[in-house]
Amino acid sequence: RDLMICVGDKEIHIKQGDITAETSDAIVNPANSQLLHGGGAALAIARKGGRVIDEQSHNLIRRIGEVPVSKAVMTDAGELPCKFVIHTVGPVWHGGNNGEAELLAGCYRNSLQLAMEHGIRSVAFPSISTGVYSYPLKQAAEIAVRTVRTFIKEHPEAFEDVMWVLFDDRTKQAYDEAISCAETL
Ligand code: ADP
Repeated sequence: RDLMICVGDKEIHIKQGDITAETSDAIVNPANSQLLHGGGAALAIARKGGRVIDEQSHNLIRRIGEVPVSKAVMTDAGELPCKFVIHTVGPVWHGGNNGEAELLAGCYRNSLQLAMEHGIRSVAFPSISTGVYSYPLKQAAEIAVRTVRTFIKEHPEAFEDVMWVLFDDRTKQAYDEAISCAETL
């Protein structure tokens, strides 16, 4: 069962699935600073997208050195059904007193900002940082929902569709809960 909330006349959806199958204009890749797509969702995205993603990632890193935590960059999507991949670097969880929350919020803001600047109308997010990077799920879900909601309120015309595509039950449940309480976040 897919949940959604309304922000003005826009809807934010949450569903369970594989983000590599999404046909939105852009999907967001929970990447690392070197854009080496070696595990988790990043590996699935790079594999299915084919060489283009790795090549463009490599060229970006050669040019800019690294992608700082919370920032976002974009590549083409190769063989994926979406058009673009937005790569953002989530914070590794180090206990919560190292700016993790603000950095995670930055991932969502900077990804949406980049999408907006490129006229991208639909964006699918995974649960950034809650895999290998160990961010506590409930807290991550609350930050994610609050940040995206605020961005859409501030830019009501920017997007047609923003969603989360979550891989497993437990993650889906956490975002469902966060979105059910969204008015109070
Ligand atoms: P991070 O390093 O930011 O923690 P991970 O890729 O390890 O990123 O995990 C982020 C989330 O993405 C986890 O909830 C993981 O289960 C999920 N995930 C893994 N593969 C996919 C996929 N194909 N589609 C959507 N989500 C995925």
